[in-house]
Amino acid sequence: MFIDCDANATYALDDCGRELLVEALQVLGNPSSLHRSGQRAKNAIDDARDAVRRLVGIGGADSSRYRVVFTSGATEANNLLIASNARSGARVIATEVEHPCVLMPLERAAQSGCMVSLIAPSQQGSVNPDMLARLVDETTTLVSVMAANNETGAVHPVRDFVSLVRQSSSTALVHSDVAQVVGKLPFSIVETGLDAITISGHKFGALTGVGALIIREHCALQPLILGGPQEDKLRGGTENVLGMVHMGLVADQIADKLKQREDTMKRVRDAFEAAVREKLPDCEFNADSIPRLPNTSSVYVPGVRADDLVVALDLKGILVSAGAACSSGKPQPSHVLTAMGQGEERVRSTLRVSFRADQSEDVGRTVAEALAEVVVRARALREEG
Ligand code: PLP
Repeated sequence: MFIDCDANATYALDDCGRELLVEALQVLGNPSSLHRSGQRAKNAIDDARDAVRRLVGIGGADSSRYRVVFTSGATEANNLLIASNARSGARVIATEVEHPCVLMPLERAAQSGCMVSLIAPSQQGSVNPDMLARLVDETTTLVSVMAANNETGAVHPVRDFVSLVRQSSSTALVHSDVAQVVGKLPFSIVETGLDAITISGHKFGALTGVGALIIREHCALQPLILGGPQEDKLRGGTENVLGMVHMGLVADQIADKLKQREDTMKRVRDAFEAAVREKLPDCEFNADSIPRLPNTSSVYVPGVRADDLVVALDLKGILVSAGAACSSGKPQPSHVLTAMGQGEERVRSTLRVSFRADQSEDVGRTVAEALAEVVVRARALREEG
């Protein structure tokens, strides 16, 4: 048995998610086939599209105003949006704390003549609306600001950002990567006024390898993957039927429990932080003076490397992550904390603990206790050495 406190990396299937997987496995046809098995798969995917719409606050008459383009995840959805809207001569505004799957396509777009401005965050990780206001004008093509940061949990007021953009530009497309918000906070694309959002199935309890770009009908998109006419000619290739159908079932399951999930996660996270404050009073929490995701704690543990803590906690059966983007097993210093102006030592010693909605306050306290034990041991070893 282990305690999974790495929900922001992936929100592994819970018991209900596993049951829904068995249900989704009943639908395995190719949606392009004319026979009954194909048509069943096609209908199931259309149902999943409606369920995803409902999860992000699109219902009734609004349903026909937004298209849901299923992708292999948030990475592809962000790439699809950016490749379609950040062409040569376009003017794009984003932030330095976006996920690499936004920053890297923007870097490539800039090399091909797109003008890209990145807003630096505050020390707490917030994005200053005045900075955005100063940059937007009628020539702006795209504004992309994530709704919540995966490392610090900082929540950005995207609704205010949309109003602000609209004061200076009637045409700029306003997009938000909401991958970390969906399933953790009530969210409605309609209420925010956003033109487009990106979601990822495995961040809210569905499978890895499925996500979506949800975008207003009139907005232009150019397919990244050419082939068959799937996804309204926006993504060639036989659909990931299992992933899409399962994501729809999970979306249906959690859509009316978002407030409850938020409250539970917050209780667990707050119990963790209260216990850490008591046992390790020199620890500090990033982004704790601004709105944050209810499940996320980004904790600076002075003098102890976060990757050592990840390993030590893993040995105790507790899964967390370093506040660093870790690809191919090589931890890199977090670009998010670095952009926030945090020094090298703080960046290296920041741990991300991200809780789930099926955990209790006891879990929060147990993890804090285990953290205190490994920190005390690591500090003692350092003094001996
Ligand atoms: N955007 C954010 C904010 C994320 O946290 C992640 C994953 O960590 C992604 C995008 C990428 O999502 P996916 O794994 O679905 O490609």
